[in-house]
Amino acid sequence: MLYLTEPEDLASVVPNEPGYRTAQLSAWLYDTPVLTTGEMTNLPAGLRQSLDLWPFVVEVEQTADKGRTVKWLMRTPDGVSIEAVLMGYPKRVTLCISSQAGCAMACTFCATGQFGFERHLLSGEIVAQVAYASAYLTANPMPGTPDHITNIVFMGMGEPLANYRHVKSAIDRMTGLMGRSARSITVSTVGVAPAIRRLADEPWKVSLAVSLHAADDELRSQLVPLNRRYPLEEVVSATEYYVARTGRRASIEWTLIDGTNDSLEQADGLARIAGRLGAHINIIALNPTPLTADKAPSAERTSAFMARLRKRGANVTLRATRGREIDAACGQLRARRLNPVS
Ligand code: SF4
Repeated sequence: MLYLTEPEDLASVVPNEPGYRTAQLSAWLYDTPVLTTGEMTNLPAGLRQSLDLWPFVVEVEQTADKGRTVKWLMRTPDGVSIEAVLMGYPKRVTLCISSQAGCAMACTFCATGQFGFERHLLSGEIVAQVAYASAYLTANPMPGTPDHITNIVFMGMGEPLANYRHVKSAIDRMTGLMGRSARSITVSTVGVAPAIRRLADEPWKVSLAVSLHAADDELRSQLVPLNRRYPLEEVVSATEYYVARTGRRASIEWTLIDGTNDSLEQADGLARIAGRLGAHINIIALNPTPLTADKAPSAERTSAFMARLRKRGANVTLRATRGREIDAACGQLRARRLNPVS
């Protein structure tokens, strides 16, 4: 499980080898990741066989959208599951990764939230998702898309800012050893306000996505229980600090739920917040989960919501939903496996 070894301790994995082996091994792990140690062609055959590469086994791999969406359910030796999704588009390839197994935030519309929290993922388990997807893409190019991962988003299972230490250490490895630009990495949060401020003071300036889902405290506290601890104003003001400190634009994520947060009043409130932050809004129609009755609004209601935002001057995109037939939204594959009858 080489990715669980801190990079500075890598030499201890190959104690009887010449010093340059550590650099060779590091290059295979971070510069040009491969799916198996057998592909590490400049290492001796015996050494390749003795190395244990991944800190998980891939239990399920599903593809959709003509091979341009791939979802993995990975299982760690202690039995927790990790989900990652790779999505190819004409000009970008986005990898969505998990930061925790399960999630303690209990957002009502989210499959992961319904199952509760198992444990934080280690930095090596987070980085390994990136390395695995990268190696997969090299071995299985997606037609009509870039040949490498252009964007990484922490939008899989878990609240990344509740696992700050390991997420920070994973981003250190991504921006250092993997040579990724901080701008290409998006940390998404449901509003851990103090951690947003802490993130603003890190040396790398990642992109920030704040999941609001409601424009007033009453509704937000229903949908996102964390709002009772960090109310809307605290989250918005921490985001203002992030934008001022980093010079990055924030984005606002909004899962649109039929009859819940798709009213024109909510659109007006959202447009006001986005205007204050200078933020782009991403609307995501709810991907129904097997566990709640919530559903996405009709196309007409969605269009009316979008039109109202634009009328109020907001910059807004309706995100295409990927991989519906493979449960590609956060926590869904895991939910389906745990509750296959639903
Ligand atoms: S939406 Fe995100 S923060 Fe909320 S329960 Fe799901 S994984 Fe956790």
